[in-house]
Amino acid sequence: MCVLFCTLSQAQVQYKKPVVYLTFDDGPSSDGVTELILDVLARHNAKATFFVTGARARANPEKIRQILDGGHALGNHTLSHGRLTSLFDHQVAQELIDTNTYILAAGGPIMNCFRAPFGDTNRRVNDIALRLGLRKVGWTIDTRDWDVFVDPEQIAVQLEDSQNQSIVLMHDGPKSRWRTLQVFSRWMEDTGHTYSFEALPDCAQPVIESYASNDLPPRTESVASTIKTAVPSPVVVQTIPQLLAKLKAYKISLLPEVVAQSSIKSSNQF
Ligand SMILES: [Zn+2]
Repeated sequence: MCVLFCTLSQAQVQYKKPVVYLTFDDGPSSDGVTELILDVLARHNAKATFFVTGARARANPEKIRQILDGGHALGNHTLSHGRLTSLFDHQVAQELIDTNTYILAAGGPIMNCFRAPFGDTNRRVNDIALRLGLRKVGWTIDTRDWDVFVDPEQIAVQLEDSQNQSIVLMHDGPKSRWRTLQVFSRWMEDTGHTYSFEALPDCAQPVIESYASNDLPPRTESVASTIKTAVPSPVVVQTIPQLLAKLKAYKISLLPEVVAQSSIKSSNQF
């Protein structure tokens, strides 16, 4: 019998918490929901990944900084939250590139992952994204917090299904999704300590501290220009020059608002 030694060896084995990847789509919101999510995460020393839209990043650039300051990761959720599979190739690319450039304009990193709105993607879309250095990220648990007819307790039930390596889909704002936060906050208080919440490794990127606006190219031609020309092999861009080279290769110009950063900061169109 090895009761004594077996007990000792078991005690020496360190318990590793299951890793759960919390993700929040559709932000950053302009009605305070992003900040509340960040507060809950900070209280529990939890990291998450925010799949933001270019339109909302444009309207709330300071929230992008708050997300990054909290140690969280960003993912590309397209400019206008359209259905990517119904768009032409150059429109798909423009949705993704414009979102990346608004994040850059807000002082964020070059993103390297994307999540298709509504999960509406296919091989063609994924290939375009990959050529822009964006890997597809899905989810394994849909809390259905987007469905106003779902009982809040059902959201809690979905959260309780979390296990090691789960990717949990939730949403950031608007205020109509307030109940998401209430349920999430309570779940974190009750059971959150049993998990280790981390940002998705595929989305993590170092933050680019600053860049000169005159590094950005002038708007040279219409967005309608095609990317059907020969495209480079998939390469994850790491620096502004690399991104600009990639944009040039695709003959796609930056939005004029990105070139003139001051106009982004004063814009509230979205
Ligand atoms: Zn979405």
